Amino acid sequence: KRVNMVKLAEQVCRNFQPMARNKGIRLRFNNPNVPCYAEVDRDKMVQVVSNVVSNAVKYTNEGSITVGVGWQPEATIIYCQDTGIGIGPQDLPYVFNRLYRVDKSRSRFSGGVGLGLSIAKALVEAHDGNIEVESELGTGSIFRITIPNAYKSMTNKLA
Ligand code: ATP
Ligand code: MG
Repeated sequence: KRVNMVKLAEQVCRNFQPMARNKGIRLRFNNPNVPCYAEVDRDKMVQVVSNVVSNAVKYTNEGSITVGVGWQPEATIIYCQDTGIGIGPQDLPYVFNRLYRVDKSRSRFSGGVGLGLSIAKALVEAHDGNIEVESELGTGSIFRITIPNAYKSMTNKLA
C-alpha cells in the first residue's frame, strides 16, 4: 500500500509529544514539505518509527529530538536524532540484537526488555530496507531508517 511517509512520521511524533513534554524535551518534526510515498505496511512502519522515537525520549534527559524525512530517488529515509545519553562504541554493534540493553542495571528502572530495535530491524528488513545508527556517548544518537522504492510525489511519477 502506498503510504505518505511524511504524514506517518509526523503522526508518530505527535503521539510522543506528551511524553517528551513531561521530560522537558523538545520534540520537533522537520517537515520536508514534499510528500514521500513508499510501498509499505502502514501499521508496521508506525511500529518501527514508534520504537525508535520512544527510545529517543526514553534515553534523553535534556535537550531535543528531531524527527525528519529525507527523500532520495529510490528511497525514503526517516531519521530520529537526539541529544541523549548516547551509545558507546563497545555497545553500538549490538543494539539491534534481541534482548540487548546497554546498561543492565538501568533496565530495572527504565523498563523495557531490549526488543524494540530488534523488532524494528526485522520489520524494516521485511521491506527490503535497512536501519542504522550513529552515536556518541554523552552526546546523542541518530537512527536512520531507509525504505526503498519510494517516490517523492505523484507529479514525479507522472513526469
Ligand atoms: P524495549 O524497546 O523492549 O522496551 P529497550 O528500549 O531497552 O527495551 P531497544 O529498543 O531494543 O530496547 O534498545 C536496545 C538498547 O539500545 C537500549 O536498552 C539502550 O541501551 C540502547 N538505545 C536504544 N536507543 C537509544 C538512544 N536513542 N539513545 C541511547 N541509547 C539507546
Ligand atoms: Mg526500546
